[in-house]
Amino acid sequence: MRFTDDRYAAEREQFDLAIRLIGHEARTHIISSLTGFSQDRIRKLYTTYFRHAGRNGVRRQRGKSPSSVGFFVRNARIQAEASTVTFLFGLFRIVRIDERLDATPVRHPSPLLFGQLMCSAYEAYLSIHQRPQISFERAWNLYKALTSRREVLLADCRQCGLLYVQDALALDGAECPPCRLDRRSPHP
Ligand SMILES: [Zn+2]
Repeated sequence: MRFTDDRYAAEREQFDLAIRLIGHEARTHIISSLTGFSQDRIRKLYTTYFRHAGRNGVRRQRGKSPSSVGFFVRNARIQAEASTVTFLFGLFRIVRIDERLDATPVRHPSPLLFGQLMCSAYEAYLSIHQRPQISFERAWNLYKALTSRREVLLADCRQCGLLYVQDALALDGAECPPCRLDRRSPHP
C-alpha cells in the first residue's frame, strides 16, 4: 500500500511538472529529460490539456531551439531582463555564483527537482515583468550559456556595482544596461 502511495505521489509530481513545462511552451525533449515521461506521453498530455487553449494559448514549439546568445545582449531592455533571470537562477539555487562571478550549476538529486526549480525561477521572472521578452526556451539557453561560460558572462558594473549579463566578447565599457541608458539620455 505504502509503495503504491509513494509511486502515485512521484507520478503526480512528474505530471504536474510536465503540465507546467507545457504551459511555458518548453520543447518536448526538454520536458522528457526533466520528467522522465516519454515524448509520446507528453504529446498526448498536450493534446488532452492544451488543445483547446486557443489562438493566444499554449503553442507547441517545433523545430530547432532558439540558441543564439546574441539575443540576450541585443538591447538594454533584454539584457536587463536576462540579468534578472540570472539573479533568479542564483536565488532558486539553480546556479552558484562565486565571488569571481563564475556561475556553476548546482547539483540536484533528480532532474525532476531541477525542473521544478527552473519553473519556479522562470515563473518569478514572469511575475515581475509586464511584457516579458524572454521565453522559457531562451531562459533554458541562458542557463546553458552561463554555466558553459563560452558566450555570456556575469560582470559587475563599474558605475553602480550591479551584476549583469555580458557578452563574453563585449566592449561595453563594463557598464550595466541601466547605466548605459542613463548616460545616453540627456539629464534635465
Ligand atoms: Zn550600472
